[in-house]
Amino acid sequence: MGFVTHTEGGSWTGGGTEVPNCNLNDRNAITAAFNFMQATSRPAVAALGGELSTLAGCLAGKTVAAVEIDCRGGSCGTAFGTAPRGGNSINMCPPALPPSVQANTDVTVFHELIHSCGGGELDSWSLENRFYVGRGTFTPGKAVINGFPGETTAIGGGLRAGTFVVWNPANGQVSVKVLSGGSWNTGPTVSAGAQILAPSAAYTFP
Ligand SMILES: [Zn+2]
Repeated sequence: MGFVTHTEGGSWTGGGTEVPNCNLNDRNAITAAFNFMQATSRPAVAALGGELSTLAGCLAGKTVAAVEIDCRGGSCGTAFGTAPRGGNSINMCPPALPPSVQANTDVTVFHELIHSCGGGELDSWSLENRFYVGRGTFTPGKAVINGFPGETTAIGGGLRAGTFVVWNPANGQVSVKVLSGGSWNTGPTVSAGAQILAPSAAYTFP
């Protein structure tokens, strides 16, 4: 784990040197973003309770040493980053790396690590919009919002649940996902807890 490398030099008999795909400036920015997440964002996530406590527990294990981190250069297209949902790897892309500002690295590491903890786009976007204001986040466009219904489930009252948050498509409000009750033969009841994002037109659907 840690930074993915490629081999430079050597010959058909072997040898060569393992060189990280993320250059030194990239690695410094990514390491700073992980440190900010651990010191500042993770405690703020945990403080809202409900399933955000579960997310905070997952994020606690997401360190530079524990996560497979790659820099994919131009193969990323226009993405800031990508990450398999529920995996343990993140790919960082040029818009989120130097010479871009540190804030763009910070918010992208947070967004992709939420995916690696099992979160969907609703989870990653709403939580970065809450916790990274002034630190690289921006409101997602309608193309992103239009993907939320397909990755969430209805829980009654017009609300839809993601992995860690609950969304009200009618007014755009996002809240903490709270589980209660449940037994060996019935699932827990899903409800909306503390507000993450106030109602806004940007988060409404359709
Ligand atoms: Zn995403």
